[in-house]
Amino acid sequence: MVLESPGQPLKPAELPEPVAGRRELLVRVAACGVCRTDLHVADGELPRPKLPLVLGHQIVGEVVGDGRRVGIPWLGWTDGECRYCRAGLENLCDRAQFTGYDRDGGYAEYAVADERYCFALPAGYSDLDAAPLLCAGLIGYRALSFTGDAERLGLYGFGASAHIVAQVARHQGRHVFAFTRDGDDDGQRFARSLGAEWAGGSSEAPPDELDAAIIFAPVGELVPAALGAVGKAGTVVCAGIHMSDIPSFPYELLWEERVLRSVANLTRRDGDEFLALAPQVPVHTKIETFPLEEANNALERLRSGGIRGAAVLDLRVTDEEG
Ligand SMILES: [Zn+2]
Ligand SMILES: [Zn+2]
Repeated sequence: MVLESPGQPLKPAELPEPVAGRRELLVRVAACGVCRTDLHVADGELPRPKLPLVLGHQIVGEVVGDGRRVGIPWLGWTDGECRYCRAGLENLCDRAQFTGYDRDGGYAEYAVADERYCFALPAGYSDLDAAPLLCAGLIGYRALSFTGDAERLGLYGFGASAHIVAQVARHQGRHVFAFTRDGDDDGQRFARSLGAEWAGGSSEAPPDELDAAIIFAPVGELVPAALGAVGKAGTVVCAGIHMSDIPSFPYELLWEERVLRSVANLTRRDGDEFLALAPQVPVHTKIETFPLEEANNALERLRSGGIRGAAVLDLRVTDEEG
């Protein structure tokens, strides 16, 4: 399924089988998670996608030739030599390439990836269940790590990432407070079923002052709301790649050493740590699957907030029919 230009639906296409170059793997895709970032790319909210483009950066598949199962994440390549790479911040590499953005991704039967950026996946997860670990899980984990030892954690936007982070946070002994769209009773029930001790609408005040909050929803108005919900020295982490403009707010909301920061991309170390931790929690992903041809439908369902947990494209269906 190909994005020819932003703002247009993806189009089905027959492409030649990609060819793996040096240090690359040709992977037969079994599953590919659908991420909100894919929506931002498709909508033209990110500045410079490769076009035409195959979206998708939560790829689980089998290496053609040796049958190994690998996961292909958003971070597809770095130069290894810029000052960010040398400082252990390869997620901020000046010349980084991202899967499903600079390089073709996993909304396809085959993908090619640099083997140094692929992950081995924990054996207890099916291909479909593992897919959301690769971005919703990984980048959620990086965002969670920036909250330090916060005991009372707010999660704004209870989608694919929050549903995983809530499980990890509970495992770490934290208290989880979930904020959904106002009136989303079903989403609030879902959050409580995953261990949130309180769930409400994002305009509501939580019953306790929070130590930290992570904002997953791409809504700038949530920044002052979250700053107002955390106590002194509290941290607010913006976990998405794009957000609507943040309205101005009184300095008082930031005063008393509150911290506001973003999270960008992932490092391979985040991946190694999270994929080792996930089976210990154990993280259970809740997924809704779509055949590849239904990718536009999956994106629209995600946009409207209709997905509980994570949307995953199931390429095994295509394989059997093909
Ligand atoms: Zn993503
Ligand atoms: Zn670099």
